[in-house]
This record gives sequence, C-alpha cells and structure tokens, in this order.
Amino acid sequence: MKNVIFPHILSIFNKCDVCKINCADYTYNIKSNIYIGVVCCKSVDCKDYLLYSVEKTTKSYESLYNKYGKWISVIRTNGNKDSGWTINGDAYQEKENEPFWVEVIKPSEKIKKIIDLESIIEY
Ligand SMILES: [Zn+2]
Repeated sequence: MKNVIFPHILSIFNKCDVCKINCADYTYNIKSNIYIGVVCCKSVDCKDYLLYSVEKTTKSYESLYNKYGKWISVIRTNGNKDSGWTINGDAYQEKENEPFWVEVIKPSEKIKKIIDLESIIEY
C-alpha cells in the first residue's frame, strides 16, 4: 500500500499531489477550512488515489454529526468540561499517527477552536 496524502495548506501554485508533475485541476477542501485540502490533476488514476487518501485522512462532517449528534462538550483550556459546542466541519489528520483535528464552535459565545477528535465528550 502506498502512503496516503495528507491534507495540507493549499496554494495557487500547487502541483498534483499524486504525480507531482501536472497542474492541479481538482481540489478537495476540508469543510470549515477552505485553505486546507488535497489537489490532483485530470488523470483518473491520480483522482482515484486522491479520493482514497481523503477517505483515510478525513472524517466527513456528516459522519461526525451522526456519531456525536448536534451538541458536544469539550474540555476548555482551564480544564473544565464545557457544553454547548457543536462540530463545524470535517476532521482531518495532518500526519500519520497524529490525531484527527476538527473545528468546533460555541454559538452562544461566538467562539471557536480546533480540537483533537478524541477529546470530544459525547452527551
Ligand atoms: Zn496527477
């Protein structure tokens, strides 16, 4: 099995993440952070490999919603458990064996933060 491609910061100069030769034509963005994602060229092989990588390195908002529900609790920086948070996008891994990161927001306080998916507390 080849190494997967991890989501990274996108730039307009990106070459295909798979073949590293052709210009990027297709972009997969992380929902909640449009500046992070993966890119590939028109090649079907490159696109297949990219979608395989996306499946391994991201968890869709929909799947997180189905697992955790609308409202979650998180641990604040002061160590306290805090409720009233909601997941705000896809979770993604930046490197192998690292946590999946996800943006969460607290609408009542208009604050957001990026947390490790493992640190989410289900109701
Ligand atoms: Zn390519």
